[in-house]
Amino acid sequence: MKVDYIIVGCSMAGICMSEVLESKGKSFIVFDDNSQNSSKVAGGVFNSVILKRFTPVWNGDTQLEKVIPFYRKLEDKLDCKLVYLFDTYRVLNSVEEQNNWAAASDKPVLNKYMQTEIITDKIDGINSEYGFGKLIKTGRIDTNILINKYRAYLSEKGQYLEESFDYSVLYSKEGLIKYKDIEATNIVFCEGYGLKNNPFFNYLPLNEVKGEVLTIKAPSLKVDKLIKAGVFVLPLGDDLYTVGATFDWKDKSQNTREQARTQLKEKLDKFLICPYEIVGQKAGIRPTTKDRRPFVGEHPQAKNMYILNGLGTRGVMIGPMVSEELYDLSENNIPLDKEIDIKRFL
Ligand SMILES: Cc1cc2nc3c(=O)[nH]c(=O)nc-3n(C[C@H](O)[C@H](O)[C@H](O)COP(=O)(O)OP(=O)(O)OC[C@H]3O[C@@H](n4cnc5c(N)ncnc54)[C@H](O)[C@@H]3O)c2cc1C
Repeated sequence: MKVDYIIVGCSMAGICMSEVLESKGKSFIVFDDNSQNSSKVAGGVFNSVILKRFTPVWNGDTQLEKVIPFYRKLEDKLDCKLVYLFDTYRVLNSVEEQNNWAAASDKPVLNKYMQTEIITDKIDGINSEYGFGKLIKTGRIDTNILINKYRAYLSEKGQYLEESFDYSVLYSKEGLIKYKDIEATNIVFCEGYGLKNNPFFNYLPLNEVKGEVLTIKAPSLKVDKLIKAGVFVLPLGDDLYTVGATFDWKDKSQNTREQARTQLKEKLDKFLICPYEIVGQKAGIRPTTKDRRPFVGEHPQAKNMYILNGLGTRGVMIGPMVSEELYDLSENNIPLDKEIDIKRFL
């Protein structure tokens, strides 16, 4: 078989790359062995403000512009609902937090997303003595449906192989890539934390962080927005909500842990004052990087061998933008933005 591209990894990064390739009429085949879960565990939330520090997301405006059209196109193609738009309400815990919110929302880079007026209306089930700050242009992508549907879509066309990519039998010389009976012009590695096993790119300083989320059922909580306090409460429909997330830099397993469950529950109980039941818990390893910028680019020695990784805590928003940039590099030799180019590690 001859293809333009081999892609290793079929989650957020691999899917974004595949989409760009398909839209440009390139042939490709994608491998996935279900060894990583980050995209399946993700809340799938996108927003343009880092609510912890009240700072704009890096390149947030450009990313946001691409997000909705990109996933809407996928909705049409896969015939399913992926995009949910809603506001985000940040619980304010003191007069000081109200003042900080007001000051941040006054800044020109933030005021298109942060509403200045504090919301004082009560929401049943949420303790909000000092009201809420409202963030607009936020939403979520249903990453689980996307991954399942996308893999099925590729499978039907014979472009998806559910197997582990064996690096030891990859042959790459002078721009020719051979893998078993596949000949390709290019290869793109999109393995998330699986990068650790990739002998070509594992020199890159991934700073992975495990994350866990709970699913709760709260029938009396009638909320259609994302509520953000010490943890976020994300409406899924049918009285179900995702509650997350933890950040654990030590544990590299994908197992769920009692400790994470307790931590999330403690934070949740500080502001959720209605009955709820925990009905699920999931864990994954986020492919985060020390400088908070993705890993994109061509291998320093092996021609036509590329990486798309390090999407960090914001894969849903960054994915569409960086996969286009990688395509421009591989096909049109357009240099990457220096901030994302893996040349920064040479
Ligand atoms: C708890 C939690 C909450 C999160 N919430 C959000 C959120 O709300 N919004 C957001 O934008 N992001 C969120 N993220 C981050 C998001 O998940 C990541 O940014 C993004 O999904 C990473 O996608 P990826 O494709 O690079 O990596 P992964 O999702 O890890 O996918 C890598 C894929 O490669 C495959 N693979 C690896 N090695 C091989 C191999 N050798 N052969 C074949 N296949 C292989 C794996 O099976 C996997 O499918 C969250 C993450 C976690 C853990």
